[in-house]
Amino acid sequence: MLIDSHAHVSDAQFDRDRNEVLNRAFQNNLKYILEVGCEPPLWDKVAELAKHEKIFSMFGLHPQDADKWTPEISNKLNDLLKNEKCIAVGEIGLDYHYENYSAEKQKNIFIKQINLALELNKPICVHCRDAYDDMVSIFKTFKVLPKGVIHCFSGSWEQATIVLNMGFLIGIDGPCTYPKSNKLKKVIENTPLDKLLVETDCPYLAPQKYRGTRNEPSYVVEIAKQIAEIKNISFEDVCQQTTKNVCKLYNLQY
Ligand SMILES: [Zn+2]
Repeated sequence: MLIDSHAHVSDAQFDRDRNEVLNRAFQNNLKYILEVGCEPPLWDKVAELAKHEKIFSMFGLHPQDADKWTPEISNKLNDLLKNEKCIAVGEIGLDYHYENYSAEKQKNIFIKQINLALELNKPICVHCRDAYDDMVSIFKTFKVLPKGVIHCFSGSWEQATIVLNMGFLIGIDGPCTYPKSNKLKKVIENTPLDKLLVETDCPYLAPQKYRGTRNEPSYVVEIAKQIAEIKNISFEDVCQQTTKNVCKLYNLQY
């Protein structure tokens, strides 16, 4: 049994066959799907999806949308986060990958949402791309941090040790199955199994076996297989422990 701890099934790429995708996931022994609503136009769709008994939601404003923060968006986010099926604030963070971003604005909105998580006593799901130093600097300004995961981890092992020491877990996605992912493989090799989560981030980042096609929650099995291979442990152990890790982090029934 596995959990896809980070999916975007609300994405328009699933409009055609969303129910089939979900059926395939649950038939393939997925215990839960954690659906991420990080773009305000999709928030209602995510809340609707999370009415399914095996789907939970998280809500936040993605760093690439930081300039969309308004009092209305902030109020709506507050309301969504109070829903009983909402288990976390996310994905939130920093993304300096594309040109023309405002680091100051992103940092400001990230900090606001970390505070919101603390206020509501919810964990955070963090997106960080090309911004590890600034993310760590922000974390250091907090006396107490929420629990959370650095989702779709793409940093080095040295960077991983810093966030692990701060109490965060590490989310592993499709890129760990790519032939050139040596840096990520080293992170997986060295990180204790009780600190790893598996996630698809679908429809993006399909594992090697499906590379170039739309990713979906049932493919999370490929990531668990790869972790088992890298750590030289059984696939069952990876399933059991990562499922426990998700349930513990997000207070879900194991
Ligand atoms: Zn995502």
